[in-house]
Amino acid sequence: MHISVPEDIVPLDSILPDEPLLMMGAGPVPIPARVAAANGIVINHLGDTMAQIIDQVKNMSRYVFQTNSGHILGVAGPGSAAMEMAVANLVVPKSKVLSVCNGFFSNRLAEMSERMEADVIRLDVADGEEVAVTDIEQQLLQHKPQILTIVQGETSNTVCNSELANIAALAKQHNCMVIVDAVCTLSTMPLAMDEWGIDAVITGGQKGLSCIPGVSLVGFSDKAWQHISTRTDQLRHWCLDAKLADQFWYKKSYHYTAPVSGILAIHEALRLICNETLSVRFERHLRCSKALQAGVEALGLTLYVKPSARLNSVVGINVPEGIEAKALLKHMSGIHRVEISGSFGPDIVRIGQMGEQCRAHNLFRTLHALGSSMNSLGQTLDLPAGVAALESALNQKTA
Ligand SMILES: *Cc1c(COP(=O)(O)O)cnc(C)c1O
Repeated sequence: MHISVPEDIVPLDSILPDEPLLMMGAGPVPIPARVAAANGIVINHLGDTMAQIIDQVKNMSRYVFQTNSGHILGVAGPGSAAMEMAVANLVVPKSKVLSVCNGFFSNRLAEMSERMEADVIRLDVADGEEVAVTDIEQQLLQHKPQILTIVQGETSNTVCNSELANIAALAKQHNCMVIVDAVCTLSTMPLAMDEWGIDAVITGGQKGLSCIPGVSLVGFSDKAWQHISTRTDQLRHWCLDAKLADQFWYKKSYHYTAPVSGILAIHEALRLICNETLSVRFERHLRCSKALQAGVEALGLTLYVKPSARLNSVVGINVPEGIEAKALLKHMSGIHRVEISGSFGPDIVRIGQMGEQCRAHNLFRTLHALGSSMNSLGQTLDLPAGVAALESALNQKTA
C-alpha cells in the first residue's frame, strides 16, 4: 500500500461543539426531532413502503405548493439542483428568457439559463428594491420571452418581490411561462401556484421547509409539463431530466436510487406543515419576523430593506459603523452559541425566519446575542428596549 491511513483523524465528537449552535442564519435552519429521526432511516427505494411514502409526499406537496398539478418531483440535490431542473427542462436552447435579477440567487437562475444557451435578457433591479411590474411589462413587450425567471424572496439581500401574483398574471397574458424560486419562502408566506398561474416552483429542504439540505422539490404546471413532454431535443442533463424523474415519482420504476432518508425527512417536514396548516404557519412567520424586526430597531439598529419590499423570511440588518460583521458573528457564536449569517454583498448581517427559527424562545436568545455582542464590540445599544419591543410585538393581536 502506497497511501497510508491518515494519522490525524479525530472522531466527530471532538470537532462538533458540545452544545450545538442555534442556527439562526439564512439556512440551514434547525430541524424538528421527527425530521431528524426520519433522516436516520434507510429503506428500499422501490418497495411498497416507499411507494406509499412517495404518494403522501406528492399529496402533501400539492397542498404546500397550492396546486392540483400531477407533476411534483423530488430531486437528490440542493435547491440549486431544483433550480437547474426547472431551467433545464423548460428552457430550450436559443429561446428567450427574461431573468429578473435582484441579487445572488436570481442571478444564478439567469446564469443557468445562459448555460442552456438561451438568449437571456437580464432585468437588473437596484439592490434593496423589488422589481416594478411596469418594468417587467415593458420587457415582455419588447423581447417576447418564452420564459421568465424570478425569485419570490432574494435571500442574499433580503428583498421580496411582493408583486409576484401580478407578475405571473402579466407573463401569462404574454404567453410566457414563469419559473419561481421559492426556496426561502415556500411555507413561510403565501404562494399559490395554480391561482397565480406559475409554471414551475422550486424549493429546497433546509430553508422554508425546515428540513435537511440536499433533497429538494420542484413542481411543474400542466402547461409546463405539456411543453416538457413534447420537446423533441435531447436534454443535456440526465439526472435532472424531468421525464426520467417521472418514472420514479409517478410510475414506481427506477431512475436513480432516490435519497430515501432525505425523502423520509421531507415527508415528516411536510406532515408537520400540514398539521400546522399553511394559514397558521404564515401567521406564525409574520408575527415572529415582524416582532424580531421591531426588536432589532428598538435596539437602535436599522434594517436594510424598506418595509414595502422587505422579505420576512430573512431579515437584513445594517452593520453599524465601527463593527466588523465577521467579528460580530464570531462573538455571537463563540460566546452565545447563536449563529447568524453575514452577506455576499451589502454590509449586512442576516437573521433567518424560516420554520423552526420562528419560535419565541429562539428570537429572545438571538436578539439578546446580537445586542449583547454588539455592545461587547463597542456599540451602545439599548438591549432592554429591544427585548421589551420583541415581547410586546409577539403579544400583539394581528389585524
Ligand atoms: C439557498 C437558496 C438557493 C440555493 O439553495 P442551495 O440548497 O444552497 O443550492 C436558491 N434560491 C434561494 C432563494 C435560496 O435562498
